[in-house]
Amino acid sequence: MLPVQQTRSIVSLGEGWTPLIRINQEQQILPVKELWVKREEQNPTASFKARGFSTAISLLNEHGVKKVAVPSNGNAASALAAYAAHAGMQSYVFVPQDCPEMIIDECLYYGAHTYKVDGYIHDAARIIQDGSVEQGWFNVGTLREPGRVEGKKTMGFELAEQMNWILPDVIVYPTGGGSGIIGLWKAFHELKSLGMLSGDLPRFVSVQEAGCQPIVDAIRSQTNYKPFPPEKVTASPTGMRVPEPPAGSLIVSILRETDGTAVAVDRDEIRAAQIAMGAQGISASPEGSATLAGTIRLIESGWIGRNERVVLFNTSHAIKYWPYTSSSSVPIVKNYEEWVRLTSPQLKEGAMK
Ligand SMILES: *Cc1c(COP(=O)(O)O)cnc(C)c1O
Repeated sequence: MLPVQQTRSIVSLGEGWTPLIRINQEQQILPVKELWVKREEQNPTASFKARGFSTAISLLNEHGVKKVAVPSNGNAASALAAYAAHAGMQSYVFVPQDCPEMIIDECLYYGAHTYKVDGYIHDAARIIQDGSVEQGWFNVGTLREPGRVEGKKTMGFELAEQMNWILPDVIVYPTGGGSGIIGLWKAFHELKSLGMLSGDLPRFVSVQEAGCQPIVDAIRSQTNYKPFPPEKVTASPTGMRVPEPPAGSLIVSILRETDGTAVAVDRDEIRAAQIAMGAQGISASPEGSATLAGTIRLIESGWIGRNERVVLFNTSHAIKYWPYTSSSSVPIVKNYEEWVRLTSPQLKEGAMK
C-alpha cells in the first residue's frame, strides 16, 4: 500500500508502529469517553516526519536520486538529513533562523548542508525552487513528490489496527503544511475501499497556533483557503507555523468532508497543555501539546461530546525544542548529607503539613 516497487530500495531507520496510549488522568478531568495519544515522538529523529521521509527517500533511491533538499520548520529537515545520510545521498536543508537550535544541531549531526533563512518556510521553499536547475537537487518539500504523504498513511493504517478497526469519533492533529491530515484521510479512504473499515470517517480537527492560522480562518469564515499574511505572523517557530500551505484548499476540504473543524490556541494554552502532558509522563512538543489545548476548547464549547472517543497526535518530543525550564535552577549536591542540609527546610515544612 506504499509506492515503493522493490524491497531493496527501501530506506528505513525503524519508523512507525508507535504506541497508542490512553491518558486516563487527563480523561478524569475532561468529560470525554476515551482520550488517546498516538506517540509519534517515538519515531527516528523524534517526529512523525520520519514516516514520510522513509517512503520519499526510498522512492528517490529507486530512481537513482543522489542530492535532495527541503524547506522546513525543523523536523522535516532533520528527518530528511537522517534518511538521506542512511541512503548515502547528499542533503541540503533550509530552516527559518528562529528554528529551535537543538533541531539545527541535529541536522548538522546527520551531515546535512544546513542553512538558516531570514524569513519563513515559504521563503526557504523559494530558495530551493530557484536553485533547482543550477544545483540539481531534488525538492522533497511538502507535496512536491508523492512519497511523504504516502508514508504518512501508515499513521492511519496503524491507528485503525490499534483500535481494532473501529476508528475514534474525533482525530486532533497539529496542522502546518497538512501532510499529516492528508495522509490520514487517504489511508482511511483506502482501508474503506478495501472493505477493512466501514461507516463515517472520524471528524478531523486541525489545530494551529494563533498568529499563523490560515486553515482556522477559512473554516471560521466559511470561505475558501487564503494564505495568512506573512507580515501578520506572531506564532512561535513550530511545525504549525506555515502561512502559505500549498495544499491549503485540500486541508480545508478534508475538514469539511469529515464534518471536522479547526481551532487556534495561544502560546499560554500550549504551555499549560504541555505541563499537563508532562504530568502524564509524555514528552510532548508544542505542536503535540496544542492538540490537547484544542481538545479542551472543543470540549468546553460542546463540539466534542461526553460519549466520544478522541485521539490526539503527539507529533514530536518536548526535548527537541527550546529548554522548558532552566536547568541552572536545579540544585547540585555531592552526597546525601549535603542533600539533607539543602532540602531540610522543605522537609520540615512538609512534615509540619
Ligand atoms: C511538521 C510538523 C507538524 C505539521 O504537520 P503537517 O503535516 O505539515 O501539517 C506538526 N507537528 C510537528 C512536530 C511537525 O514537525
